[in-house]
Amino acid sequence: MRAAAFLDRDGTIIHDAHYLADPDGVRLLPGAAAAIARLNAAGMPVVVVTNQSGIGRGYFTEGDFRAVQARVEALLAAGGARLDAVYHCPHAPDAEPACGCRKPGVELFVRAAAEHGLDLARSWYVGDRLRDVAPAERLGGRGILVRAGAEHGEAERAPAGVAVVEDLAEAVEVVLAAARAN
Ligand SMILES: [Mg+2]
Repeated sequence: MRAAAFLDRDGTIIHDAHYLADPDGVRLLPGAAAAIARLNAAGMPVVVVTNQSGIGRGYFTEGDFRAVQARVEALLAAGGARLDAVYHCPHAPDAEPACGCRKPGVELFVRAAAEHGLDLARSWYVGDRLRDVAPAERLGGRGILVRAGAEHGEAERAPAGVAVVEDLAEAVEVVLAAARAN
């Protein structure tokens, strides 16, 4: 089984436009495509896991999500990067009954591992929110919190053991340095 890089999308790969429903609003963060291309070149599976509560809240549809995601992947492809898989949680945080797939829930990671032969305990959990890195605690991997210019300041509250970096490029540097050391 292989270690994977689990990446958050909004605020980590693309500018977080909040409930983004329009493909024309997609803007890659600087260096994101090159960073993902480095993971591709290293042979590490890149899996996006993203909370998309805008669907459950009725702000946009599954089709809108797919259109935005297609735009993200087209921009990444133009930068020489590809995603190996994408998983999204469509539920609102107050959904009844509560779902298990909204991060920090681990259901999507467990599903990805089963479908792609991934070793969750050796994988990386990368995002701009504490809920993105929290699954590492339950699953045994390592979390990396990216600041990415976010104003919510969650990086300041990162627990011990979670690396805090500026952006996805730095996160990938941490991942590949650890891979080289093994
Ligand atoms: Mg995010």
